[in-house]
Amino acid sequence: MQCRVCDSKNLELVIDLGYQPWCNHFLKQDEVGKEPFYPLRVLFCHDCATAQLDYTVKKEIMFGDHTYLSGVTKSLSKHFEEVAQEVDRIFGSAWKKKSILDIGSNDGTQLKHFQTLGYEVLGVESSKTTAQIANDAKVPTVNAFFNLDLVNQLDRQFKVINASGVFFHLEELHSVCQGIQKALADDGVFVVQFLYMPSIVENLAFDQIYHEHLLYYSLQTIETLLQRHGLSMFDARLASIHGGSIIAYVTHKEKAAPSERLTQMRQAEKESNFNSIETYQKFQLDIEQLRKENQDYLQSAKAAGKRVYGMGAPVKGNTLLNYFQVGPDLVQGLVEINTLRRGLYSPGMHIPLLMEDELDGSPDVYYVLAWNFKQEILKRYADLIEQGVEFYFPVNPKISA
Ligand SMILES: [Zn+2]
Repeated sequence: MQCRVCDSKNLELVIDLGYQPWCNHFLKQDEVGKEPFYPLRVLFCHDCATAQLDYTVKKEIMFGDHTYLSGVTKSLSKHFEEVAQEVDRIFGSAWKKKSILDIGSNDGTQLKHFQTLGYEVLGVESSKTTAQIANDAKVPTVNAFFNLDLVNQLDRQFKVINASGVFFHLEELHSVCQGIQKALADDGVFVVQFLYMPSIVENLAFDQIYHEHLLYYSLQTIETLLQRHGLSMFDARLASIHGGSIIAYVTHKEKAAPSERLTQMRQAEKESNFNSIETYQKFQLDIEQLRKENQDYLQSAKAAGKRVYGMGAPVKGNTLLNYFQVGPDLVQGLVEINTLRRGLYSPGMHIPLLMEDELDGSPDVYYVLAWNFKQEILKRYADLIEQGVEFYFPVNPKISA
């Protein structure tokens, strides 16, 4: 195994979440028990400090036909709108003709906000069904994996290239970076959003570790990767989405000086000594402690005869359920609003998914797997809380939407 960023072989195991199924494939009844399990382990690179999975589930298995639709979650759509407006406000006036390429464009939610602002848009989406939904909604979308070959075929440059939440599940990392470098106009900006590992660790958001996320970046480590491909970051800010993410602005090497806030964030990361193996070793101990707390809570709820349902069935919830060994004896169903998932079961632990209208009365406890939307959930269900339904957050975020 070589480091995915710097090719070093000097890697060390720091977090071991055992064998887990691929978490984004909820099971049909006849698939239950037949799903394959893969190791879920994080290694630390002693040379460039990048945290990364050692085992790669093939991208064709992972992204052939996923059912996650970004339009479904209100917080996300609003977040995408803000990003579009911010990009256009800061950079848009310098460009005569505005264009954007979105990598991993999903159902086109992000691109619609750019269309509103007068951009010519193009999406690249690997899921056939999802790409079709985007095209039906008049968001031009290519059904493909983004890499250098695709860029050569497109033979176009864009003022904006956007990659939100895909930059850590790229199997062909270097080909993707080369593609971005080539497709980005001279005066263009690459907007990259990624989970910020220091926030993940601070929030104990270990459930962001799953097979799709091959890489876990800090500023230092993503900048190592970008520089290798002739790109450099010149601005960045923290966002609360997904329990702590960074939105960073990147351009061709030496085209723009780093902003003051980026310089400060780099400095803070350095002073906290985040990019050290000790950070990850402590993280592993903290998540073992969290597992104990959750097991204790759910076992005592069971002993008290409480009806416990999971709220939401986010992909990351499966890391949590499998690592905590929480099955249908402890959580009787996962309540979900995405109707594409009606009648399915969670991979590994086999908890049935239920639509809100299939619920037989209110549960005693909602075990909130979508804990990163804590504020939104507490607000939306204020009346249930008033009626005495308990909302338990398996991870208590310091940063939440
Ligand atoms: Zn490395």
